[in-house]
Amino acid sequence: MLTTLRQIVEGVTQAPSLHDAMNVLVRQTRSAMQVDCCTVYLAESQRRRYRLVATDGLALEAVGKVTLPYDEGLVGLVGRREELLNLADAASHPNFKYLPEVAEDDFNSFLGVPIMQQRQVLGVLVVQQADSRQFDESDESFLVTLVAQLAARILHAEMKGMLHADQQWRRSLKGVAASSGVAIARAWVWRPKMELEHVAPKQSDDPELQLELFNQAVLQVQLDLDATALRFRESVSQDSMAIFEIYQHLLTDPAFIQQIEAEIVREKWSAASAVRRVSERFIQQFQAMSDSYLRERAVDVRDVAQRLLSHLAHSQIDEFDFDEPVVLLAEEVTASLLAEVPRERLAAMISLRGAVNSHAAILARAMGIPAVMGLELPLAGLEQRLLVVDGNRGELLVEPTQSVLDEYRQLIRQAKAMDDRLGAESHLPSETLDGARISVLLNAGLNLESESAMRDMADGIGLYRTEIPFMLHDSFPSEQEQTLRYREVLANFSGRPVCMRTLDIGGDKPLPYFPIVEDNPFLGWRGIRLTLDHPELFLAQLKAMLRASESHDNLSIMLPMVGSLSEVQAARRLLDQAWLEVSEELGRKGSSVRYPMLGAMIEVPSILYILPELAPYVDFWSVGTNDLTQYLLAVDRNNSRVAGLYDAFHPAVMRVLQQIVGTANGHGKTVSICGELAGDPLGVLILMAMGYRTFSMNLNNIARVKYLIRRVKLADLYPLLEMGLHQGSSAALKGLFTGYLEQLGLNDLLPPK
Ligand code: PEP
Ligand code: MG
Repeated sequence: MLTTLRQIVEGVTQAPSLHDAMNVLVRQTRSAMQVDCCTVYLAESQRRRYRLVATDGLALEAVGKVTLPYDEGLVGLVGRREELLNLADAASHPNFKYLPEVAEDDFNSFLGVPIMQQRQVLGVLVVQQADSRQFDESDESFLVTLVAQLAARILHAEMKGMLHADQQWRRSLKGVAASSGVAIARAWVWRPKMELEHVAPKQSDDPELQLELFNQAVLQVQLDLDATALRFRESVSQDSMAIFEIYQHLLTDPAFIQQIEAEIVREKWSAASAVRRVSERFIQQFQAMSDSYLRERAVDVRDVAQRLLSHLAHSQIDEFDFDEPVVLLAEEVTASLLAEVPRERLAAMISLRGAVNSHAAILARAMGIPAVMGLELPLAGLEQRLLVVDGNRGELLVEPTQSVLDEYRQLIRQAKAMDDRLGAESHLPSETLDGARISVLLNAGLNLESESAMRDMADGIGLYRTEIPFMLHDSFPSEQEQTLRYREVLANFSGRPVCMRTLDIGGDKPLPYFPIVEDNPFLGWRGIRLTLDHPELFLAQLKAMLRASESHDNLSIMLPMVGSLSEVQAARRLLDQAWLEVSEELGRKGSSVRYPMLGAMIEVPSILYILPELAPYVDFWSVGTNDLTQYLLAVDRNNSRVAGLYDAFHPAVMRVLQQIVGTANGHGKTVSICGELAGDPLGVLILMAMGYRTFSMNLNNIARVKYLIRRVKLADLYPLLEMGLHQGSSAALKGLFTGYLEQLGLNDLLPPK
């Protein structure tokens, strides 16, 4: 059964168009199941009907023409119930609908299964048989397994078909709304892989730079290969492992490497062109050999060359040249890719993988660019097409009609007017109508320039994500480099508190020069776990922060991903050591540095139960609701498949947040919120009602949140929270606070639905 299934899936996947794919599906399924007829109906959601798109057994004239409303016939019933229907005598079923044009009079038995993708019915696959018999269990399980494997591919083929047909899209594609706002711009598809043949011969007037890029690419590929070899060591045979050795050998083979270097230095070819020229010569030589083993080596050369080119393509991102901003599209837009593209060239981003609180989404929000993630879509057909990215609804429209474009242009104008309205008040203090002073801080680390330009809006920095500069480097930044950067930040916010978080890499924030290969990266070597294992990195960072704070005295330090008391104690010992060393050093020139406040982030659920024990060792807590939600709900914040389950307003998260503020007050500790919930208008109101008074958020949310705070009364919020928490559902809780905003005429502060 597995072989047959695989053959059908491959046949469908490889078909050049949706039409061909559906024909392959019905033909091969009919033959594999030895039935008299197989038909596929695809849903047209806007018109609420199914269209017969391919059949092997019914009248061919009906293909593409016959449609069935969602609420009619057996096909409609399968779709509505979202379950299989197995009938020995279809015509006697009350839902049976006779369609003369499909000529199904000869068939009695009917087995229909819904084609489901992410809770959505894409269509119905039906097999029929002339004799009146119930299909058996093995038929049912075959068909169910087949459609489960095919659903994503059918959706993909459907999209591809639409793109190729070049028709105006009547329907939008739905993904996860990852960063609000609307943008209209042309598509630019980011492909990390560059094919050898696609490298255009190009010369360079900076051979030194090209040589440096090439050497870095070699190093990167070596690291990648080591990491892959490590991953496969347990699971594959020694023969297969030999391939990694061959690749590594090629990367150190002077004949190969020196020829490329010579092409760069002497002939002035760009690094990518030199790789292509030399690799092609090697490939030709190997291909011409009579020994079959050596002939095969041509494949290895090509693979290694392609790996080098991928890295070279990546390091050339700043070379892209557009007249106007583009929509960046990629299989997976990572935080580092996003941070590398100049802001002024980015209108929006679409990532097929990732979800609302992946770090790329957080960066998109911090940069103020609309983003949609988790779409099922063939990227190749989108290059250069005009797109509308609706980050409020999580929708993408391709080549929309003029009237749709006009509607979206109007929305963009309205959003701009709103931003101006909010901006006009952004320098005013954030105080509620009944006099409660709320501290509004900035989540910083992405873009020093824009963060500094807007610094007057914030009361300080509540979370400085130090990992972003690490991600943009090609090796660990030196202590000196770090000192300079941190000093700039502390100086920019002089007189206001700045909370720097120690390095939080791992999870979905890998460093290109420090590969970590793990099955479960979010449960793996992340944050404080990693830095405590590398005290040399941790101490360098702590010393850089301390040295940078000389004469500013506004530094506090925060530890990410703390899960136990011993981690804080170990970190405290290292901070003592770093402080003593820096104090000694500064003391020699008659200066000194204040011992900073040390805080722990509340992200890992275990820490919730040891807050009292932790209290003597920390000065403050800050709740990272992004990770706390992920770990409490066991929902990967980066996985679009479970995006619907990721809910920072979940009653469990709410209860925990309420407990935290109570414990913090009981121990006289300050507690802030620095996860994305702090920048959400409903989140802020709920958290204020719980007792939180310090919120740290993206630059983009500050004006909105301050505007909101200045228009509400704390006293109004308490009864709403009381009522909302008893309802036991996030929708009910949010509904109550949304109603309050509506009463105040402030609901336009919420993203449009
Ligand atoms: C969080 O987890 O809420 C947080 C602020 O940290 P990050 O998003 O950087 O993981
Ligand atoms: Mg976190």
